[in-house]
Amino acid sequence: RTLLMNGQNPIFIPGPTNIPDRLRAAMNVQSSDHRAPDFKDLLQPVLRDVRKVFKMKGGEIITFPASGTGGWEASITNTLSPGDKVLVARYGMFSHRWIDLCQRHGLDVEVLECEWGEGAPADRFADRLASDEAGLIKAVLVTHNETATGVRSDIAAVRTALDASDHQALLFVDCVSSLGSMDFRMDEWGVDLAVSGSQKGFMLNTGMAIVAVSDKALSAMETARCARCFFDFRDMLAANQVGGYPYTPPLQLIHGLRESLDMLLAEGLENVFQRHFRIAEGVRQAVAAWGMTLCARAPELYSDTVSAIYVPEGFDSNSLTDHAFSRYEVSFGVGLGEMSGKAFRIGHLGSMSEVMALSGLAAMEMAMKDLDYPVSLGSGVAAAQEYYRQSGAAPQIAGGQAR
Ligand SMILES: *Cc1c(COP(=O)(O)O)cnc(C)c1O
Repeated sequence: RTLLMNGQNPIFIPGPTNIPDRLRAAMNVQSSDHRAPDFKDLLQPVLRDVRKVFKMKGGEIITFPASGTGGWEASITNTLSPGDKVLVARYGMFSHRWIDLCQRHGLDVEVLECEWGEGAPADRFADRLASDEAGLIKAVLVTHNETATGVRSDIAAVRTALDASDHQALLFVDCVSSLGSMDFRMDEWGVDLAVSGSQKGFMLNTGMAIVAVSDKALSAMETARCARCFFDFRDMLAANQVGGYPYTPPLQLIHGLRESLDMLLAEGLENVFQRHFRIAEGVRQAVAAWGMTLCARAPELYSDTVSAIYVPEGFDSNSLTDHAFSRYEVSFGVGLGEMSGKAFRIGHLGSMSEVMALSGLAAMEMAMKDLDYPVSLGSGVAAAQEYYRQSGAAPQIAGGQAR
C-alpha cells in the first residue's frame, strides 16, 4: 500500500459502520466502578430504550461484551439442547455461518438450500412445519437481512407459516444488519429471540452483542442443556436485576449506546427507515445506470442497508475493491463465499447521508473506469443525484417498499 489512509473518507462496508463524532465523544469516558451504586442509573434506562428499537414490550434485553456472533451463540445455547432439531434456510454467508454454529453445538440442523439472492422461503417453511406433526422442530432460524447478498426477508411471512400449522417452534431472527436501519417488529412478528450488535445500525464500535428475548424463549432457558457459562442468560438477568453485570461490562459501549439511542429516537425510527430507504434507492438507481445487476432477485427483497452488485463477466470484483482502497482510500465490501470475485457490496447504513453516498458512488466510478469497466464517469452519480433531488423534499416510496 502506498498511501496512509487519511481517516476522513467514509467507509462503505456493511459494518462496522461510520461512527459519528457525537458517538465517539460519548464513548470517551474515564473508567468507573461498575459495582458503584450509580451504574444501574446508566444501564437500566439503556436496556429500557433498546426495547423501543426492537418494538417489544415483554421479555428481556440482554447484552454481552461480544460481536454479533456471540449473540448467535448465546441465543442457541440458552434455549436449546444438543440433538434438538432446528429448521433454517441457507441463502448467503451469514445464514451459512449461523448454521455452522448450530452444527458445532450438536444441534440437528435441517437446512433448506436456496439460491443466493433469494430470501427466507416462507412457503417451504410452511410445508415443512405442517408435516412435523410430532413437533420435533424446536426452532426456526431466519436471517432478516442477509448481508452477503443484500436481501431482506419477510419475517411476518415466516410467522404466518408457523401459525398456519399451529407450530410451537421458537422463531429466532438475526437482525444484526437491519435493526435500527430497517423496520423490525419483535412483538408484531412474534419473534422469540432476536440477535443484533453495536457496530451496524447503532453506529458504534464492535463489541456489544444485543439480544432481545421473548417470555416464551426465557422459559426455554431452564431446560436448555447446551453448555454455556460466559453467555448464560440467567447470570446476566440476575445481575441486571440489581443494576449490575456478572463481570466487567463494556462501559464505553454502554455510554455509546445511550447516545446512539438518543440520536435514533430523536430522528424518529420511521424517519431513520425512510432515510435508509432513500439512500439505498439512490444507490440502486446508480447500479441500474451502470448497467449492472443486484444479487437480490426482486424489488421486495432489496435491502436498504447493503447492496451486493455483480460485476460484468470477465472482471474480478476483488481487484476492484482492492483498487478502490489503495488508489482512493475507500473501502467497499468484498463478495463473500461463492460471490468472491463476482460481486462487491456497498454498505449504506448507520451514519450515512445522501452526500456521503454520492461520494462513494463517485469513487466507485473512478475505480471502475481505471480498470476499464464499461461505465462512463458520472452516470451512476447522476442517476442518484436525480433521485435524491426529487425524493428529498417529500420522501416517496419507489421500487422497493417501506416495511
Ligand atoms: C455483521 C453480521 C453478524 C455478526 O457478525 P460479527 O462480526 O460477529 O459482529 C451476523 N449476522 C449478520 C447478518 C451480520 O451482518
